Amino acid sequence: MPTVKAYAATSATEPLVPATIERRDVGPKDVLIAIRYAGICHSDIHTVRGEWGPITYPQVVGHEIVGEVVEVGSDVTKYQAGDRVGVGCMVNSCRECENCRAGLEQYCLNGNVGTYAGVDRDGTITQGGYSTHIVVDQDFVLRVPEAIPYEAAAPLLCAGITTYSPLAHWNAGPGKRVAVVGMGGLGHMAVKIAAAMGAEVTVLSRTLAKQDDGLAYGAKEYFSTDDATTFEKLANHFDLIINTVSAPLDVDAYLRLLRLDGTMVNVGAPPEPLPVTMFTLFGNRRSYAGSSIGGIAETQEMLDFCAERGVAPETELISADQINEAYERVMSSDVRYRFVIDTATL
Ligand SMILES: [Zn+2]
Ligand SMILES: [Zn+2]
Repeated sequence: MPTVKAYAATSATEPLVPATIERRDVGPKDVLIAIRYAGICHSDIHTVRGEWGPITYPQVVGHEIVGEVVEVGSDVTKYQAGDRVGVGCMVNSCRECENCRAGLEQYCLNGNVGTYAGVDRDGTITQGGYSTHIVVDQDFVLRVPEAIPYEAAAPLLCAGITTYSPLAHWNAGPGKRVAVVGMGGLGHMAVKIAAAMGAEVTVLSRTLAKQDDGLAYGAKEYFSTDDATTFEKLANHFDLIINTVSAPLDVDAYLRLLRLDGTMVNVGAPPEPLPVTMFTLFGNRRSYAGSSIGGIAETQEMLDFCAERGVAPETELISADQINEAYERVMSSDVRYRFVIDTATL
């Protein structure tokens, strides 16, 4: 088994440190990828700190991965050495359940295998993208179009697809009013993608600190949610609200901003349950929904869409020794808008 360089968590409380991990030998359907860039997602931090449940250490995280194919297994037909590829939040699924057969592997009824801290079908614990190489089944590898700059492509594999999927599913487009709640890693992608789809985009953020950015990324309007008049002005206004905030908020107050048949979709995940008043849903026949990443086919569709429309995340490139500092900055929302690790520095 090849041993590769990585940056790993050794406990829930210690900083991440340089490490080596083993990757499996390249099987018949596997692709060996030399990772060039890996994005830092909030989920990485929750996971290594054990906030989403206990994990086994050492653990390498990172599920926004782009790089180059260096070797393929004997039965691989989709990729060859030199291809520009990406890997997102999952690396396997059962492929047999009705959701997998529908191309919605993220909703695999037997559980998809996360790119890190997941138990793969061979029983091993998956290790993520903060490393120099990864071995992935060809069916879970994405093609990254040349038009997307390499380091900007990484965050599309989680932040991009997590926002693209609900926007596509609920038909964001011309004539639709879309609100994006929160202007972080996910939120800024939601703004760019919704605007590229032709929707009329409004940002709802606690402060107006990122207003110039929001408008530059395609939003028509930008409101502070600390200002109570915002909720009066925008009552019964939106067709779709994408909530990217993972802190608890007053769901009813946001639901009341939906017009007839409007839907509010959570892609941020607060740890505690949030109360919803049924009468708020009765009004305007509103819906409250959740959405989780996207299937492999839809992730490819998203990458192709972003390449065609010139949509790319805003990134700040860092070296491996800045990962711990970057985590602190993510926790204090001090990033515009996604950290990306240059894996040459591992
Ligand atoms: Zn993520
Ligand atoms: Zn399945």
